[in-house]
Amino acid sequence: VLSTMQDVPLLISRILTHGSTVHGTSQVTTWTGEGEPHRRSFAEIGARAAQLAHALREELGVADADRVATLAWNNAEHVEAYFAIPSMGAVLHTLNLRLPAEQLVWIVNHADDKVVIVNGSLLPLLAPLLPKLPAIEHIVVTGPGDRSLLDGARPRVHEYEELIADRPTAYDWPELDERQAAAMCYTSGTTGDPKGVVYSHRSIYLHSMQVNMTQSMGLTDQDTSLVVVPQFHVNAWGLPHATFMTGVNLLMPDRFLQPAPLAEMIESERPTHAAAVPTIWQGLLAELTAKPRDVSSLTQVTIGGSACPPSLMEAFDKLGMRVCHAWGMTETSPLGTVARPPAHAVGTEEEFAYRLTQGRFPAGVEARLSGPGGERLPWDGESAGELEVRGNWIAGAYYNGPGAEPLRPADKFSEDGWLKTGDVGTISPEGFLTLTDRAKDVIKSGGEWISSVDLENALMSHPDVAEAAVVAVPDEKWGERPLATVVLKEGSTADFETLRAFLADEGHIARWQLPERWTIIESVPKTSVGKFDKKVLRKKYAEGELD
Ligand code: ADP
Repeated sequence: VLSTMQDVPLLISRILTHGSTVHGTSQVTTWTGEGEPHRRSFAEIGARAAQLAHALREELGVADADRVATLAWNNAEHVEAYFAIPSMGAVLHTLNLRLPAEQLVWIVNHADDKVVIVNGSLLPLLAPLLPKLPAIEHIVVTGPGDRSLLDGARPRVHEYEELIADRPTAYDWPELDERQAAAMCYTSGTTGDPKGVVYSHRSIYLHSMQVNMTQSMGLTDQDTSLVVVPQFHVNAWGLPHATFMTGVNLLMPDRFLQPAPLAEMIESERPTHAAAVPTIWQGLLAELTAKPRDVSSLTQVTIGGSACPPSLMEAFDKLGMRVCHAWGMTETSPLGTVARPPAHAVGTEEEFAYRLTQGRFPAGVEARLSGPGGERLPWDGESAGELEVRGNWIAGAYYNGPGAEPLRPADKFSEDGWLKTGDVGTISPEGFLTLTDRAKDVIKSGGEWISSVDLENALMSHPDVAEAAVVAVPDEKWGERPLATVVLKEGSTADFETLRAFLADEGHIARWQLPERWTIIESVPKTSVGKFDKKVLRKKYAEGELD
């Protein structure tokens, strides 16, 4: 029996139309580093997105399904691109501006990007790469920056403002197939070539609704969200799309991502919510400790991308910035789990432990655990295995170039189509995920597993430790053993014996798991999205640099 309901495709243009009318007075505020920040209403963003779509189609010849790349910080123009490009039927490709040059070149060529919209401040990065990017037909520049760097690329260079000026502020958005490609994002490729994930209108629409649910971020038009997570890092965790559904104001830091300007923008713009990876918040915490500011507006902080250390959660709670921990990946759009404690734990001693888990699966994400032999493991909170997920905003394959069949590598997708996350952990009967490690970071010592994350969290709860990363190193007797690399706070004198004893006593780490190899480093190397780069640490150790 057929339903009697209307069948209206879930399109990004609908999110834009809704946001720019119903929430037309909500604002995107972009930090400029000096003077008043730049403010633009959702209504203006809607009008300018229409102008941009006209310019791309009529002036630059962007056709359906063409890839349009952005090389940009978080700002109002980037939000305009987020809506204009998919709404007109093209595909938004956000480029990670922190990738090594050769990876960026590989990715642009693999995606076959035709146009790139670039912030003027990033021209020193883009200009030298252009000779290696033959498919790029047009370069559109926004904001301040030295245009002369592009002299060799004229006449393909356009000024964003000139390009969109005087064009119609409405666009007859096409009625697309909701399964069509809307946006793409490459994983940062810690192993092998980067892999492209292509989101559909439908997946982004449904994901945005999930982001908005009370049990996820649950923001309203009374909120302002400071989006520190880059727009090139899994669509800024869905915030630009989700906020246009609900009228949440956006505070965009542009290129001012250092702790001091972040503290300043929190004090002066008074956001209620913020989102970023733990390393950003560790930096802010140090800044606020050295120079206290009024951060009282900020009551909810979403932390994800890597495990939130308990010490960070505690310190933020004390400042009134309540942490909400979440897990996800490029392949999951990214919202996979959110750690909202269950009703029975709220206000009890158990609450903190629930908040430290990676969180609970929402209705749209199905999960299962797979043991070493591929067997299904129970949700008993104890059996640890590889997490596999499926759902409406979970990737089922990787992009394989224009016109090619998508890739489904066997280490990434099960035979029945579930995504193998590469993350190892347990699931409780109530659906709370606790990750012990990434499969590739876990330390295999004498047939037993040691969680690098547990050791790091315990170390980072010592008052003298600023950061700590633990990696597996080869060991003749045990196969692998943990190597603790530690960044001490300024002026601290803690030695390894003290830290080892602390791990055993306060950290409750079993004796056999205690590292016997230690090294003090100046800072932990970070990946392009600000996570601990353990690959670099392992390599340094192998090359004898960490003894
Ligand atoms: P990359 O693999 O380059 O880091 P992603 O941003 O897609 O790119 O990373 C996804 C991975 O990040 C997950 O598979 C998981 O290992 C890790 N991760 C994300 N959120 C958390 C979290 N809250 N706790 C622990 N690990 C996390």
